[in-house]
Amino acid sequence: MNSLDTHILENWYQINYESQLQGRRILFDDIEPLIKKLSNKFKKEILGYSENNIPIYKISIGTGSIKILSWSQMHGNESTGTKALFDLFNFFENSGDLESIKDQILKQCMLQFIVLLNPDGAIKFTRENANNIDLNRDAVDRKAIESNLLRNTLEIFNPKFCFNLHDQRTIFNVAGTKNPATLSFLAPSEDLERTITNGRIETMSVIVAMNNFLQQFIPNQIGRYTDEFYPTATGDNFQKLGHNTILIEAGHFKGDYSREITRKYNFYALLNGLYFIATANDFKNFKPYFKIPNNDKMFLDIIYKNLKIPKNNSQITTDVGIQYKFKIENDELIMYKSIEKEGDLSEYFTFNMINGEKLNYYDLKLSNS
Ligand SMILES: [Zn+2]
Repeated sequence: MNSLDTHILENWYQINYESQLQGRRILFDDIEPLIKKLSNKFKKEILGYSENNIPIYKISIGTGSIKILSWSQMHGNESTGTKALFDLFNFFENSGDLESIKDQILKQCMLQFIVLLNPDGAIKFTRENANNIDLNRDAVDRKAIESNLLRNTLEIFNPKFCFNLHDQRTIFNVAGTKNPATLSFLAPSEDLERTITNGRIETMSVIVAMNNFLQQFIPNQIGRYTDEFYPTATGDNFQKLGHNTILIEAGHFKGDYSREITRKYNFYALLNGLYFIATANDFKNFKPYFKIPNNDKMFLDIIYKNLKIPKNNSQITTDVGIQYKFKIENDELIMYKSIEKEGDLSEYFTFNMINGEKLNYYDLKLSNS
C-alpha cells in the first residue's frame, strides 16, 4: 500500500480544508449550503427531522464492500467532528496529489455519514437534544427521534466499522505528561468485564494505526478514553451488536479554543483510519492500543497562583483554577471563566499560569459572567 505522505497531506489541507466552517458553534444553517454544493459523486438524502423539525442529512459515497458509518455532533455542542467531516468531503471532491489514497478508500469502502445528528442541541449549545435527552445515553431506550434515526441507519446499512465523533473538555491531559489530550480514542467495552472480544480487537487495531500516524504530528498529545462499560451508551451498544465502533474525542491544542487545529488532526485521524481499513490485510494488531496513555484530568485553562480570596469573613491565599465554559447570549456563543478548582494546584497543568499576588479577586469575578 502507498503510504499517506505527511507533507503532501499538510499542503493539501492548507489549501482545501472547508474554510466556511469555523469556530465551536456549528449549526444546520452553516452546513446546509455546503451539503447542497456537494457534487453528484455524493448521494445526499434527508434521513429525517430533529425534535424541532430541522433536517438531518445522510451523505453517502464509495462503491466498495467494507461498510463504514460515521456520525458527528450527537452532542450538539461538540462540533469538531462535523468540521472534520466536511474537510473529508472536500478530500473526496478534490484529493490533488493524494488521488490514489482517495481511490483506494472509495473502491474498497462504502461510506455513510450522518452529519450533525443533534441540530437542536447545536442551537442551544448543549449536549442534549431539544427534550434534554443525551443521545449518547439513549441507545437502549431510544426516546429521542435522533437516536432512532441513527439506530435505523445502523440496522439497514449494517456497517463493519463506525466512527462516533465527539469533543472532550480541555481538562483532559495525557496521563504522565503535561500535555492536553488533543485527541483521544476509545474502543468501547461490550460488558462490565471489558472483555477483549474479537470485535474490540478489530476496533483497537484501527485505533493503533490512527495513533501511529497522528503521533507524527502531535507526539504525546493522544490519550485513551476510559473503557468503563456504559450500558446505555451508543458506542458500547453498537460494538456489542457487532459493529466495530471507534470513538474519537477531539480535545484541546495550545491556544486553540475554536478547535481549528484539533479539527485538522481529527480529519487526519479519520482519513488515516479509513485508509487503513481500506488497505489492511487484517485487523489483529491491537496490543499497542494499551500502550496509548490514558486520559487524565489535570489540565486547567488558567491557574492563578497565590490569589487572595475571601473566606469566612477573612482572606486566604490560595491557587484558583479556571475552566472556560460556554453559553448562548443573544444567539451568540460566549466563552466565560468558571472556577473549577481551589487550593494547592501545584499538581495541575496549564498553558496560562498567572501570578495572582497583585490581582484583586473581585476583578477576576467581574470577568466571570
Ligand atoms: Zn460527546
